[in-house]
Amino acid sequence: MEPHTEATPVPPLVSVPRQSPEGPQPPAGHTTSTSERGSFCLAACTCGWRGPARRSRDLARKDATRHTAG
Ligand SMILES: [Zn+2]
Repeated sequence: MEPHTEATPVPPLVSVPRQSPEGPQPPAGHTTSTSERGSFCLAACTCGWRGPARRSRDLARKDATRHTAG
């Protein structure tokens, strides 16, 4: 138990890398969307993930759901 309470000066967090909020995509999370290619449909995510080409949009959407589910 020390009597003196000398406060240690905490330097401001200058070196913390800031995330630029600019851009339509959120910094975290996955936003999926489906796009059509000819008669095929495939899911894509903002993280760069791409699902396989599917015959139906329903399947592509399921791929996207499985991707966001983890
Ligand atoms: Zn993703």
